[in-house]
Amino acid sequence: MSDKRKMAINANSELYNVERWGNGYFAVNEKGHLCVLPEKREDGPTIDILEVIEEIRSQDIPFPTVIRFHDILRSQVRLLNQTFREAMEESGYKGRFVGVYPIKVNQTREVVEEIIEAGEPFDYGLEAGSKSELLAALSLNENRNSLTVLNGYKDEEYIRLAFLGRKIERKIVIVVENFSEFAIIIRLAEEMNVVPLIGIRAKLSVQGAGRWAGSSGDRAKFGLTCSEILNGITLLKRHGLADSLKLLHFHVGSQIPDIRILKEAVSEAGRIYADLVLSGLNIEYFDVGGGLGVDYDGSRSSSNSSRNYTLQEYAADIVAVLQQICDQANIHHPHIVSESGRYVTAHHSCVITNVVDIIHQTTNSFNTEKTSGEHILVSNMRESARDLTMENYQEIYNDVQQSKLDCIQAFKLGVISLEERAKIETLYWKIIGQIRDIMKRADFVPKELQQIDELRASQYLCNFSVFQSAADTWAIHQLLPIMPVNRLDERPTERCSIADITCDSDGKIDRFIAKNGYAQSLLLHALRKGEEYYIGLFLTGAYQDVMGDMHNLFGRLNEVHIYCDDDDPSDFYIEEVIKGASAQHVLSTMQYSPEIMARTIKRKIDRQVHRGKIQPREGVKLIDFYESCLEGYTYLKF
Ligand SMILES: *Cc1c(COP(=O)(O)O)cnc(C)c1O
Repeated sequence: MSDKRKMAINANSELYNVERWGNGYFAVNEKGHLCVLPEKREDGPTIDILEVIEEIRSQDIPFPTVIRFHDILRSQVRLLNQTFREAMEESGYKGRFVGVYPIKVNQTREVVEEIIEAGEPFDYGLEAGSKSELLAALSLNENRNSLTVLNGYKDEEYIRLAFLGRKIERKIVIVVENFSEFAIIIRLAEEMNVVPLIGIRAKLSVQGAGRWAGSSGDRAKFGLTCSEILNGITLLKRHGLADSLKLLHFHVGSQIPDIRILKEAVSEAGRIYADLVLSGLNIEYFDVGGGLGVDYDGSRSSSNSSRNYTLQEYAADIVAVLQQICDQANIHHPHIVSESGRYVTAHHSCVITNVVDIIHQTTNSFNTEKTSGEHILVSNMRESARDLTMENYQEIYNDVQQSKLDCIQAFKLGVISLEERAKIETLYWKIIGQIRDIMKRADFVPKELQQIDELRASQYLCNFSVFQSAADTWAIHQLLPIMPVNRLDERPTERCSIADITCDSDGKIDRFIAKNGYAQSLLLHALRKGEEYYIGLFLTGAYQDVMGDMHNLFGRLNEVHIYCDDDDPSDFYIEEVIKGASAQHVLSTMQYSPEIMARTIKRKIDRQVHRGKIQPREGVKLIDFYESCLEGYTYLKF
């Protein structure tokens, strides 16, 4: 391989921060393609994402497509469980680790099934937060040694369902989030004749941090205060159910950015646990909730899209803090439950989209030749272009910014014409381009001018919907790793942001991972005629996969499930393809009847045929075309 290519590959790995957010699962191969290392080993199997894309194309599956790497999912489940086991072994902790996967993070059946299967040796269970999720958990989790933990607000039906689970010998723990739930549990346990397993969620005083800080603290929506905990226990004792209290739970919020918050929470909850055990209760499980963070931007910092700790630290800190409290109080070490979902699922899926067009900021120019009687604003702009030098570029920059604003005002007041405005715009972008060239040669660039690249950035129009596939980038400014999957052996030259195909001006991504924090644009490659350019949105396996909405009726994406196979020449095979939403499917979810729609159009076309306005053959074709659009994929076809 030429040195130039090798250097470009290294530079691109760094530019897109692959090694940092990739967590060992992603790398750039010698062909300049992004690839997946399902075993996190460079000498292990390697799945070239471009080869996956080619196979998807050969099966006529249109893009955009979700690709799931099931081996990553399995690997994350093993890592979480093994790391906790190792941390416990190392410090001589006596309890076990019995994690549960919170289905809300990604409820897709195949995902949950894979997690259960991979977690079987560890008795890894499930967590549900609603009746529908409980219905799913009851049918999927058949391991009688694993836990099913129930959170969320509960009505009578929810608790009846939980007791149905107890009747088929599942370890279902109902976590009381709200004081009134005690009474329903007590009444139904007696009525249905079951021995319940009860947990309580403590409302800790520790305030979380990051975007989900509101999940704990005095004003949190969930959890019991100390008085409520004690009164609840009195209530349970009165009904002979004190022994049913098996679990103490807390949750300080998702994506905990700073490990100190978790340590404080474990300390506070550990003290509650110790006091309850010392008062004679036999609580077996200590549930630390979710929140184990994912380093989306690869910065390993306490910024909102990152975390300042590793999985090893996370596990070791929980174990150490809890162990110390128990040893000091001279009580048994509880089993530790974690409900981490984001960490388990984020890496396994990505969205692959193709670039369908470019919206240039600068290239579409208008003839700017001098005409007699032109407005002075135009002449001034032309002079600025002429006078620009290495010495005065900041001054000119300031001038033209003002002139551009003046031009818009003048246009609105009818002082300059549409043609003059087009000339000024063209000259403006020419000057900005020249200033950029000058800046490249300058030793020092004033901070204000550093955003000039962003000003010039084009928009790559990608075949996907932000609202369906990356809801959190829109809703809460979550950073997701976004990068091309091919041509990584070439240096990218185009500064751009990403626009989606919804007709919403919010349907865009203009926050990207950059060296120091984030940038409003991303470097991508110039498009080549007749060659597809694929962009991936990564770490979409947690929440993004399932939270998407139907904005513009685009609906769910095609999905391809990939398994690693070391014996296969490409190291992978497509195990399953799940078709994305058809137009008729998304329409019927909005109460349309595709049949009636098709019939109506047919009737109208037939009438035009009768009236001789459409040829019969053409009429048949038009009807077929309408029907095939109804059956087709909702995204753009190219
Ligand atoms: C959302 C939630 C989780 C999952 O949190 P992650 O940050 O995805 O690990 C766990 N427990 C409870 C109670 C939750 O509400």
